[in-house]
This record gives sequence, C-alpha cells and structure tokens, in this order.
Amino acid sequence: MSKYKRVLLKLSGEALMGNDTYGINTEVLNTYALQVKEVVDQGVEVGIVIGGGNIFRGLSGVSKGFDRVKGDQMGMLATVINSLALQSTIESVGGKAKVFTATKMEPVGELYSKAKVLEAFRQGYAAIIAGGTGNPFFTTDTASALRGVEIEAEALLKGTRVDGIYTADPEKDPKATKYNTITFDQAYEQRLKVMDLTAFTMCSENNLPIVVFDMNTPGNLKKIVFGENIGTLVKK
Ligand code: UDP
Repeated sequence: MSKYKRVLLKLSGEALMGNDTYGINTEVLNTYALQVKEVVDQGVEVGIVIGGGNIFRGLSGVSKGFDRVKGDQMGMLATVINSLALQSTIESVGGKAKVFTATKMEPVGELYSKAKVLEAFRQGYAAIIAGGTGNPFFTTDTASALRGVEIEAEALLKGTRVDGIYTADPEKDPKATKYNTITFDQAYEQRLKVMDLTAFTMCSENNLPIVVFDMNTPGNLKKIVFGENIGTLVKK
C-alpha cells in the first residue's frame, strides 16, 4: 500500500537542464517520465507542476529590458513547453498524461479545472498542470502549492537536485546536517529555504505537507510515495 494516494509533484525547470546550460535534457526528462509512470502504475494519482527556469524567468527578462508582466507571461509559456515535453516523454515510455493549462490554450492543453484533473486521475492519467497560476508575480512553487491544495493532494513533493533540507548550505558548511522531519514553524523560524514564502505559507495554512527530495536518483519518487524515509518532510 502506498503512503500517499494523491500527490502534487513539483519539478523545477532548472532540474530539467541536467548538466546542460539551457533547455531540456532528454535523459533527465526520460528518467522523470519513467518515475512518474512507475507510481501511476501503482495506482497513485499524480498531479505535476513544472517550472520554466531552464527556458525563461520573468525577472531575468526585466534585466534585459522586458516589461515584468510580459516577462512573466513568457516564463509561464516556458512552463507549458516543459509540460508538453514531459507529457510526450511519459507517452513514449508507455504511460498516460494530460496537460492542463492555467489560461485558455486549446489545443495545446485543456483549460485547467479541479474536476477535469480528478476525472483524468480516474482514467489513469498523470495530470500535468501547466502555465503556473496564470498570473504574473507568482512562481511555479506557488502554483504547485495552489494546485496541490485545490486537488486535495496529501503531500506536495518537491523534486530537486538535493536530497533534502539542511541546517545550512552543505556546499558551504561541511558540518551541515539534513533534517528528516521539520515543522513549518521550525523551518520558518530558522529561515530555511524550502520554497518561496508565498508557497510555503499556502502549504502551512492549508496543512499540506511538503517533501523535499532528490528526484534525479531513479526510484526516489516511488520510495517517497511508499513511505520510505528519504528526503525531508515538512509538516505541522
Ligand atoms: N511565472 C509567473 N506566474 C506563475 C508561475 C510562473 O509569472 O504563476 C513565471 C515567472 O516569470 C517565473 C517563470 O514563470 O520566473 C518560471 O517559473 P519558475 O521561476 O517558478 O520556474 P523554476 O524556478 O521552477 O524553474
């Protein structure tokens, strides 16, 4: 039996680059797709929100002279590109995935609604929820918190390149140790970077636990979903 029946998986755009400096690394994408398929095959309902930082970030557009709102819209479109890439790869490894978008974009993806996502779950699809929140000045961390709460996920799984939350930056401080579990209050008081503050607050206020884990190690998503003690769990 899985520990979680329904999860929201947040994947950063940057992680999709792998060791490249820009864009989508197909090897990384393939390992992500296989991991998603592996847990969907076990009957777990998986919603996915992907970032866009591997292609475009609104703030970096501002430094190049773009208007912030336009830059953020470009960033949100970048998340749609990543979402289509993941959908296509999940299909190519034999899985099923649907893309929902925060703003109208048919036929690229169906307009997001909670009911459509739940229906997709019933039909055995992973639901990739693209386009962030649809609003500028937000992040995909916040989009994942929002969608996680909306679809009543039991946990928000934040797949990153590091294996959890540390007392300090492990690359700078050799004495840094990893937390297995930490409360929202402790994480806040210690100013630990779990997610951006808007996303963190949303999860905390709605009692949506966050698991930070290393998604780049194949099999880890399944381990988390089946309750193995890896990564860091942030809860009430
Ligand atoms: N973005 C936005 N509203 C949202 C989500 C994302 O405007 O609700 C834009 C924003 O410009 C952001 C970009 O999309 O920089 C890419 O998202 P994010 O930086 O969260 O991606 P990640 O860091 O996870 O790769």
